[in-house]
Amino acid sequence: MAKTTKPLCKECRKNGVKLYLKGRRCETVKCPVDKREKRTRKFVRRKKISEYGVQLREKNKVKIYYGVLERQFKRYFELAKATPGVTGEILLQFLERRLDNIVFRSNWCYSRRMSKQIINHGDILVNGKKIDRPGYMVNINDEIQLKPNSKYAGIAKETIEDYKQHIVPAFLQVDEEHCRIKVVRHPVREEVALPIDEQLIVNLYSK
Ligand code: SF4
Repeated sequence: MAKTTKPLCKECRKNGVKLYLKGRRCETVKCPVDKREKRTRKFVRRKKISEYGVQLREKNKVKIYYGVLERQFKRYFELAKATPGVTGEILLQFLERRLDNIVFRSNWCYSRRMSKQIINHGDILVNGKKIDRPGYMVNINDEIQLKPNSKYAGIAKETIEDYKQHIVPAFLQVDEEHCRIKVVRHPVREEVALPIDEQLIVNLYSK
């Protein structure tokens, strides 16, 4: 399982963006990025970074946000490059189609880390079959559900309630009552919630 051992909030601070790695805390006033934003606006001038540095930072943001390691990320990129279409957009589409991301974006858990854990424990079924790989890429018409009698059912209901203000992207149809998700189409660029310039990543790998 792809897992960063670095302090999570530090990753957000370093990349200057909220990566939503700590679940509920990210929604509160305790988020250090929000606090820093306020301070930065008042007092601090940002340091200038090189073009390479900007590209590298953009890649790191995406990697950390989706919780994938360098090697996995490179594989996604190679796959996106070999697929007809706009490489950067296809790369993001592949990452959005990861099972852990689908479970998180359907508001069944507080963070992608937590959704990875649920999947690793074998509590997620795709089309009735247990899938314990967080990186499993969902397809159109796939049906995702929690295993019957899953210990996470209570958490899913609680999160759905807590994250009411989080809009589930339109490529997913969620039956909150029965904890079921249906993938109705592939995600489009506008549905990626992270503010990112994916072309910078394409430029980085094209060197
Ligand atoms: Fe920490 Fe979450 Fe804020 Fe990131 S978004 S700095 S993980 S609280």
